[in-house]
Amino acid sequence: MGKCTSIAVIGLGLIGGSILKKLQNTGYNLIGVSRSQKTIDKATEEGLISTGSTDISVIKDADIVFICTPINKTIPILIEVAKIAKKDAIITDVASLKGLIMDFVNTSHDPIRFIGGHPMAGTEQSGIDASFPELFKGAKWVLTPSNWTTEDDIKTLETVINQLEARTVLAEPQQHDKAVALISHMPLFISQSIYSLVKNYPDRDTGELAMQLAASGFRDMTRLAATNPELASDMLIENRTNVLNTVRELVKEASLLEKQLAENEEKFTENCEDIASSRKNMYSPDGRNIYKKIR
Ligand code: NAP
Repeated sequence: MGKCTSIAVIGLGLIGGSILKKLQNTGYNLIGVSRSQKTIDKATEEGLISTGSTDISVIKDADIVFICTPINKTIPILIEVAKIAKKDAIITDVASLKGLIMDFVNTSHDPIRFIGGHPMAGTEQSGIDASFPELFKGAKWVLTPSNWTTEDDIKTLETVINQLEARTVLAEPQQHDKAVALISHMPLFISQSIYSLVKNYPDRDTGELAMQLAASGFRDMTRLAATNPELASDMLIENRTNVLNTVRELVKEASLLEKQLAENEEKFTENCEDIASSRKNMYSPDGRNIYKKIR
């Protein structure tokens, strides 16, 4: 496709709003579509878009269309976009799960020029007011090419993603969904479990005291439990099989540590040291993932 001058974003929430805020005043013609007129008015007032509507047909001249709606709206919206968009437009999304969407695109009778996407950045907030231009700074952005994707399309999309200050990583959709179950969805589930356990602790007096004393450790361990509930339930339900598999693996890992703690103090202490040193080396002081593949 080559040159991209016009970008449409559908779903102006945390992710869609942050894309627009970063691309604002960079020379693109920016088009916004959202569910409510209030969100469109807000994006227009903030100068984020030159054209905005609740009617999806305004995306018709865009060179790239980002679908940034909740996961379960992505396929229905993609069907609409594929009918309306220019033949050479690149369509992409940001949904946290890729398997179902890519299966749909790859088994479509008509070509859909779609590249799956998932920015590995977010917060527990939602909506356009929570969006900010630096959200993707230094983040990885997974791309899952479809059967219809060309090298040129990947390069064009990569250029925009790099302008968002993110770095692309190509992945297979099914493997992506297993990996995010491990690092994102299972931790969310565990975070919810930890919060519920303490909040509803059977020994009420101890539970109350714990809630009052809880400081940064509990806050960090339960940050994910405050995730936008629509997104949380979408992710956990849609990726249920992978999430449940990783929860089972976690229980096995915890049982090993439990056995060591009960029976082998020396081994347990050694393990504490190994885990702490490996975890310290995984992130830079400013919070970036600096993990290096060793195999
Ligand atoms: P969000 O803040 O709730 O934003 C979703 C936006 O979609 C809302 O602004 C809403 O519009 C709009 N919307 C809902 N239904 C729509 C429809 N039928 N047509 C047009 N717009 C519609 O959610 P988000 O966190 O940005 O998540 C969006 C996507 O990003 C999800 O697929 C999620 O998996 C993915 N993602 C999220 C994170 C994260 O940490 N949050 C990270 C990576 C990827 P109104 O404001 O107009 O009601």
